[in-house]
Amino acid sequence: MPMLGAHLSVSQGYDELFLAADKIGCEAVQIFAKNQRQWENKPIEASSASSFREKRAKSNVQYANVHASYLLNLVTPDDKVFNKSVASLLDDMNRAELLGISDTVVHPGSHMGSGDKIGIARIAGAIEIILNENSFCYLLLETTSGQGTSIGWRFEHIRDILSKLKDSKRVFVCYDTCHTFAAGYDIRTAEEYEKTFDLFDRIVGIDKIRLFHINDSKNELGTRKDRHEFLGKGFIGIDAFRMLVNDSRFKDHPMILEVPGDYDDFKKEIKTLNSFIKRR
Ligand SMILES: [Zn+2]
Ligand SMILES: [Zn+2]
Repeated sequence: MPMLGAHLSVSQGYDELFLAADKIGCEAVQIFAKNQRQWENKPIEASSASSFREKRAKSNVQYANVHASYLLNLVTPDDKVFNKSVASLLDDMNRAELLGISDTVVHPGSHMGSGDKIGIARIAGAIEIILNENSFCYLLLETTSGQGTSIGWRFEHIRDILSKLKDSKRVFVCYDTCHTFAAGYDIRTAEEYEKTFDLFDRIVGIDKIRLFHINDSKNELGTRKDRHEFLGKGFIGIDAFRMLVNDSRFKDHPMILEVPGDYDDFKKEIKTLNSFIKRR
């Protein structure tokens, strides 16, 4: 059975975080390890980190990941922004390590006109630096919707980033259903669903998917716009999510909701998904 969960806020403290996770029925949680909209942040206190680990161990949460800051851009041609971004992602991964979290998810970023090829070389360089500095964490590249000049919306982008790395065994993919759909990859019918994951398997390798973000899309297929919607309320529709939670290839994967709702909404979504799962 996949581990279902949601992106939860840590603003009320780690106690509240895990209380909420249990109340909602989360086996997986995603958090920000710092304020995702500012560059400078206070470090996590050691006591706070040990409280996180303790609370987590007592909860039903089996999997946790950090989502990196929204500010960073590892694809930018601007050296100043690039260096700041590398430092910020490394900081996110060091925070994750402190909390005992192995996985950090990042959006590759935007090439700002320099082109895919240069952008891809740029982020591959960034990943080399980061994985050298942090030997504990896994880095998960999130599939993006293709807004503006962003990288990561075509499966080929991910393949090309991975192929540039000396060693890609700590680099994986977070497959966001809303983003990939907006980028043009259909999963609405059984046929399209199989086609899309076959394609991913041929281009990147299905084993590289380590995490799912399960979101419906407020925008149609191929619009390259990133707006999340509740499951079944958007253009993807509920059938895709029914297939996903029953896909034997992903039976042990964490699946995180990032829908624009509160705890009651998350609880309802997880209950619905659980009702879809055919017990084997
Ligand atoms: Zn994301
Ligand atoms: Zn996402």
